[in-house]
Amino acid sequence: MKERITCAICPMACEIDVFEREGDLIIAGNRCGRGHEFIQKHLDEGDRIVTGRCLLSGGQMNRLPVSTNTKIPGKLVNQVLETIQNTRVQAPIKRGQIIIENILETGANVIAQRKAL
Ligand code: SF4
Repeated sequence: MKERITCAICPMACEIDVFEREGDLIIAGNRCGRGHEFIQKHLDEGDRIVTGRCLLSGGQMNRLPVSTNTKIPGKLVNQVLETIQNTRVQAPIKRGQIIIENILETGANVIAQRKAL
């Protein structure tokens, strides 16, 4: 993943590249530390709790509402949602039960928002 973001802090308008290398987030192209902070804030703002519905077998309904128990990095939100939507679980399910542990290695668990009998 590589993203180029224009720093909006000062008129220099540096073009800053953001990418991953061997698991580390690399921020390059900023002329000063304020640009680094700008990018960190930009990335953090996309973080959020993801809610969705996974497939349910053997229950009174076809889908089970779920959500992550912690925020997901903005760049992974769509992948997490897609994984949730393609996951099938079997009733009975208790409210609060872990449906997917450590989804996409984010450290977040996907939790059932209601019970399914
Ligand atoms: S990185 Fe620094 S110099 Fe470049 S636009 Fe941002 S604040 Fe200005």
